Amino acid sequence: MSETTTSLHINALPAFSDNYLWLLRQEQYALVVDPGDADVVEQALHQHHCRLVAILLTHHHADHTGGAAELQKRWQCPVYAPDHLHAAYTALHPISVHEGEHITFPLIPGLQCRVMCLPGHTLDHVAYLVDGKHLFSGDVIFGAGCGRLFEGTPVQMYQSLQRIAELPESTLLYPAHEYTAHNIAFALTIEPDNEMLKQRAASTLVLRDQALSTLPSTVGLEKNTNPFLRCAQLVNLAPFNHLTPIALFTALRARRNSF
Ligand SMILES: [Zn+2]
Repeated sequence: MSETTTSLHINALPAFSDNYLWLLRQEQYALVVDPGDADVVEQALHQHHCRLVAILLTHHHADHTGGAAELQKRWQCPVYAPDHLHAAYTALHPISVHEGEHITFPLIPGLQCRVMCLPGHTLDHVAYLVDGKHLFSGDVIFGAGCGRLFEGTPVQMYQSLQRIAELPESTLLYPAHEYTAHNIAFALTIEPDNEMLKQRAASTLVLRDQALSTLPSTVGLEKNTNPFLRCAQLVNLAPFNHLTPIALFTALRARRNSF
């Protein structure tokens, strides 16, 4: 068999005010994660001369699911979604995904995709780990931050973030929103002397001044700069040293809501 190129291309498609819809392409075939807007995805498919072969949904919020029905109809492709009876999914007749499952795509035979259930932002939330090194994480983790707790408990979210932290440090993270700059501003109020955080603030400013994406991030970068992944270390320091990691996480999440 002749050698063919199997490299995976990943594009951030900006949508709404700060969403990224993630497009994964291999040769002429594409997958999309969380297509909140069908037109944005159609334009990218046209630009790259690609055919959509599957839609992956991380959770039920409209800015992640709003374009799925139109794309499914246009491309007659399967939709993978959390196993949850939410109205956002039922009309799509999705293939339900579960913890630890491996999804394969017949037209992209080399691509490996594993499902992680990460509740907290919503109870149904899943992430997709592609080729063991690209995590499409929806609204669980953001650059230097984490998602709001709309449905889950702080303990659920803390545990979901810990599972991300346990992945290899080189794992690339693809959150669904560009919130990094504001999250760093908050993180600096918690850890004003964190040198890596200060460096990240400077490099983020350069990127955002050029309207460039700050993503993907990496597990290693988040472990060093994201306060929501650093609670176990922060409780060794004043003024947090009377708290458990979960109590600190809960307090930080509440404080971030009004920041
Ligand atoms: Zn959401």
